[in-house]
Amino acid sequence: MIVKPKTRGFICITSHPDGCAAHVQEQIDYVKSQPKIENGPKNVLVIGASAGYGLASRIVPAFSSGANTLGLFFEKPGSEKRTGSAGWYNTAAFEKAATAEGLFAKSLNGDAFSHDMKKQAIDIIQNEMGKIDLVVYSLASPRRTDPDTGETYSSVLKTTGGEYTNKTLNTDKGEVNEVTIGAGTDEEIAHTIKVMGGADWELWMNALDDAGVLAEGVQTVAYSYIGPEITWPIYTDGTIGQAKKDVEKSCAKLNDTLSNKYGGKAYVSVNKALVTQASSAIPVVPLYISILYKEMKAKGIHEGCIEQMQRLFADHMYSDDAKVDNEGRIRVDDWEMRDDVQAAVLESWNKISNENFTELADFQGYQDDFLKLFGFGMGGVDYDADTDPETAPLSLAE
Ligand code: NAD
Repeated sequence: MIVKPKTRGFICITSHPDGCAAHVQEQIDYVKSQPKIENGPKNVLVIGASAGYGLASRIVPAFSSGANTLGLFFEKPGSEKRTGSAGWYNTAAFEKAATAEGLFAKSLNGDAFSHDMKKQAIDIIQNEMGKIDLVVYSLASPRRTDPDTGETYSSVLKTTGGEYTNKTLNTDKGEVNEVTIGAGTDEEIAHTIKVMGGADWELWMNALDDAGVLAEGVQTVAYSYIGPEITWPIYTDGTIGQAKKDVEKSCAKLNDTLSNKYGGKAYVSVNKALVTQASSAIPVVPLYISILYKEMKAKGIHEGCIEQMQRLFADHMYSDDAKVDNEGRIRVDDWEMRDDVQAAVLESWNKISNENFTELADFQGYQDDFLKLFGFGMGGVDYDADTDPETAPLSLAE
């Protein structure tokens, strides 16, 4: 099949197996170019392992400290007629590369919020892996079915105050225009917390603890975002921000349990704003990211998911002492939040309009990264050649 990008709003409905493989290989090559992480994790579970921050969190321990990995995700396999989702092909490439180096790499495709998925993961850990020393929780999902009540909740991206109007980028048309974001109701806030809050992270850690599959010194981490004031109404102070506060509460509880029982630790890491499938759906944020990319590239401090996760593991979680902020969070968004970076971003933000945005923002960089998520625009890939849409992860091939 010859596969070309077909974008619909903030998603691309096709993805390229060989392009996704090239994107994964680029990340593996980066990790291999870095110093090995001494005392890095060896037996890792990544929940949300097929794209964005979760995929990078799987690649770093595998290729930096030779870790065995079990990755979970919700992706669509390809068929003879249709391409699968990018995360499916990313995982196929990851498993192939890890297995070639003699590493254990298995995956589970299904709903991580369910009890069944937790049971399947525990079975694999007990029978094939041995105790887990790192659990990465990197889910980004629009809905969640509570496994005990069967009730399904949807998350919303709204404010928790009144309406908020600001600039945004129509990534389809390449236009800057205004967007008004409505206020979430109490129910919408509560439901967003149900989906993106810490409840499921706790369920996972409790299930692993009860099953006796956590190792001495085990660490766990979940990801959050803070960003500058221009994004607060929609993010930090918005419905999603309330869910992230809930993740921090869960983190404190998990840290107590893990430190008491295993001498372990639970962290929230605040990461940089980056183009991923999850972030491209948030209003205002893509315009902010485009301006941020421009400033960070100009200063030579731009990073993608893989560089962020390399720094998280090497400089914090597996260094002698993880540096944390007043709230106990790891901050790999430190370069994004530097005063000089934020001052420059704000200056451009105040001036930016449809007439000057290609000058003030790195829209090309945004679009390139967006297409890369689906395996397009990768050097060395022949996009006019046939590619096999039925490419599948080794552990999930029928
Ligand atoms: P992403 O969309 O790239 O990846 C999401 C992952 O979750 C995929 O592996 C997907 O398959 C999996 N997933 C979704 N629903 C699932 C389900 N029901 N069961 C199993 N797997 C499921 O997202 P991302 O941007 O990497 O986000 C990961 C985390 O990082 C989120 O907590 C997000 O808030 C946080 N974060 C993102 C950014 C950013 O700018 N992208 C910044 C800081 C923090």
